[in-house]
This record gives sequence, structure tokens and C-alpha cells, in this order.
Amino acid sequence: MQVSGRLTEIVDSQGFSVFVPFSDTYLLEKREMTRFEIRLDDGRTISAQQRKHIYATMRDISDYTGYTPEQVKALLKYDFIAKTGSDYFSLSDCDMTTANEFLNYLIDFCLEQDIPTLDSLLERSPDISRYLYSCLANKRCALCGKKSELHHSDHVGSGRNRKEIMHLGMRAEALCRIHHTECHNTGQQTFDNKHHIYGIKLDKYLCEILKFKWR
Ligand SMILES: [Zn+2]
Ligand SMILES: [Zn+2]
Repeated sequence: MQVSGRLTEIVDSQGFSVFVPFSDTYLLEKREMTRFEIRLDDGRTISAQQRKHIYATMRDISDYTGYTPEQVKALLKYDFIAKTGSDYFSLSDCDMTTANEFLNYLIDFCLEQDIPTLDSLLERSPDISRYLYSCLANKRCALCGKKSELHHSDHVGSGRNRKEIMHLGMRAEALCRIHHTECHNTGQQTFDNKHHIYGIKLDKYLCEILKFKWR
């Protein structure tokens, strides 16, 4: 369900309140809905760089699937709209938030479908945490997109086996054999600084996937 509201109050450096006109308050009480996600629309329109990354990613998908770029654009825009409930939008003048969300969606699509890209998706991603998470979930190297191994970026004491250490809340990175080796050779901090990545905390969903399928 998507609703919109307007800003009513800003509390200095602490937060803000939003009023959402909504007549069906019975529904809120009955379902005990108390937490909401707010999408901030700052009124800025898509930037040249966002457009460049979106079109580059759609071109990679087109090259890989054999669909024309126009077909890829039409199919994926409608799929994105169906999945997110977004309004119809144009890449010539949509807002920045929609552009970022669509770009995230395209990047996830490439990771899920194992689609090779001309340059690293890390460079194109507007949301690095989300990208690093997606790499773990899809077992793709965060740096080059190749099939990855699980690397624990938190220090793990010796004498603990693989199964034991694969638990909730520990930070991990998805790295291919080559990048994984580089990481162990150079050390965590140097490696992370050089490539601008960091470990992502393993949540329930990731643990579930990794436990059974990670090689
Ligand atoms: Zn490792
Ligand atoms: Zn790699």
C-alpha cells in the first residue's frame, strides 16, 4: 500500500513529522500497524550520471539476453513498476529517488541472472550496502562479478570450524578466489580501503542461503 503525506514539523537535528491523510484508520488499528517506511522526494530530477549508469546496465542486459535495448527498457520498467508499485516514469525526467531505485533494481537483476557487465557494478551502484548485500545473497564477487567465496571480515579466532563461525551478526564479504586471496595477502583494512568496500552483517536470510549452498 502506498500513501503520501506532507511535512508538518522539523525537530532540529533529530527528525521530522509527517501527516498522512488516511480515512481508513480502523485498518491501522486492527492490523496494529505502527511502523512505516518513508520515501523522501526532494524534487530533484534524474542526474546525467544516474541516466548513464541506467543505460549502461540496460545495454549489458541487452547484449547478454539478445533483446534489443528498447525491449529491455520496456520489459524491465514494467516489471519494476509491478514489483514496487511505482508510478509510470520516464528516464528523461523522473525524480532522483526513482532513478536510484530503478538502478538498484537493474543491478540486482544482473546479479540474480548472472549477467556480465562491462565495468564493475560497484562503480554504478547508488547504494553500496545494498549492493554488497546482494553480492552475498547471489554469491557474486563484489569487485568483479565472478562466482564468489564467503570471506569473514570480522576477526575469527583459531580453532573454530567453518560451520560454527557462519552465524548471525558476523560481517562478511563476497569475493572470488583471486580477490579473496588478495584480501588475505594485503590485510582487511588495506583491502577495504583500496576497493571501497566493507563487510556486511549476516542476517537470518543470508545465513539461511549460505549455510546450505556456499561452497
Ligand atoms: Zn577469507
Ligand atoms: Zn573478484
